[in-house]
Amino acid sequence: MEIKYDHLLVRFGELALKGRNRNEFEKKLKENVRHALKEHPSVKIKRTYGRIMVELHGEQESPIIEKLKNVFGISSFSLAMKAENNEESIKETALQAFLQHEGKKSTFKIESRRAYKDFPISTRDLNPLIGTHILKNTENVTVDVHQPDVEVSVEVREQGTYISCGRVEGAGGLPVGTSAKVMLMLSGGIDSPVAGYLTMKRGATVEAVHFHSPPYTNERARKKVEDLANLLTAFGGPVRLHIVPFTNLQKAIHENIHSNYTMTIMRRMMLRITDRLTAERRAKAIVNGESLGQVASQTLESMHAINEVTTCPILRPLVTMDKLEVIDIAEKIGTYPISILPYDDCCTVFLPPESVTKPTREKASRFEKAFDFEPFIEEALQNIEMVTLDGSNKNEKEMDDLL
Ligand code: ATP
Ligand code: MG
Repeated sequence: MEIKYDHLLVRFGELALKGRNRNEFEKKLKENVRHALKEHPSVKIKRTYGRIMVELHGEQESPIIEKLKNVFGISSFSLAMKAENNEESIKETALQAFLQHEGKKSTFKIESRRAYKDFPISTRDLNPLIGTHILKNTENVTVDVHQPDVEVSVEVREQGTYISCGRVEGAGGLPVGTSAKVMLMLSGGIDSPVAGYLTMKRGATVEAVHFHSPPYTNERARKKVEDLANLLTAFGGPVRLHIVPFTNLQKAIHENIHSNYTMTIMRRMMLRITDRLTAERRAKAIVNGESLGQVASQTLESMHAINEVTTCPILRPLVTMDKLEVIDIAEKIGTYPISILPYDDCCTVFLPPESVTKPTREKASRFEKAFDFEPFIEEALQNIEMVTLDGSNKNEKEMDDLL
């Protein structure tokens, strides 16, 4: 039988497991790998202690490798060949793994591990046995234990021995679903999708909330947000998006609040609604894309004045980042080209000519008391629409329309 690279051996950071429930972590990671590879029904995903094995069963490896790079909780992975647990099979498979490995390979070293302690040959004996076999069957190849071109990794496990050359760096972080749920305030801009991505990286499950103001904002603005949420599914599975009709509340703010406080009050209203949604959806924190000092509404005074309306933790993963750092990530995760499409979201539509950069809680509360906003908040909450994005081009709403 021809020996080929027909496995991907997935490693995860053991340090990240400290003090955590290892079993839950591994189960979640396996589930997430399965979801990321759902378009490849032939692959089989198996869990062995400390590793996940992806059996390719004839599937092309490159699209699978691209998808695995997005899965949080993976530290690295390698294409691997599987040998039987005997000396002959291991030697021959290691030679094939070396020969079929692409790239510079004038020098190599063998690095073996014996996770299966009943295997009779110790790693000290295994390394030279395999090394000699490769040297015998190749030309112009030498061993270099310090800086080899290729490290041939040999892992003896109960169900077989896995051999790989080289490794691909994983996304790091923790598997999505191992931390609690968060509510991501998702605008159509550059920042909030990146904030969502970074929160997922720490294992949180993300639901998104978007405020829109039809007819001042159009369907394309909404579609843009759905597309952004859809892109985020690549990193952690389906994303629920709650779309809040904000028009009437925004108009009420516009008509009843002094123009230099409309921005502050509008943000407070968004946060109040998000706070209630967070409780309803049993989420444990709110995430936004604010970065300190980036715009008038993101001064510390402004954050202080807005924050008053909730006791829920607000995570601001971008708070210390420069715009260019954020753009780098947005480009890497593919949200940037969508974020810069020119459709207005609700904030720009009612943007007053000037806003205070140093609002206070006292003034904000005083202005809010001048009018009963509660019925408008209630109305917005009652009319939230939920769509689930699952990474395919069609989301549920579009599917419903088609049926
Ligand atoms: P972004 O690039 O994420 O739009 P921004 O630099 O435009 O951010 P702001 O407009 O001040 O900044 O918004 C700050 C944060 O408030 C956003 O990152 C987002 O989390 C939240 N936000 C703003 N507008 C909306 C909206 N229409 N729906 C939901 N959240 C919003
Ligand atoms: Mg914005």
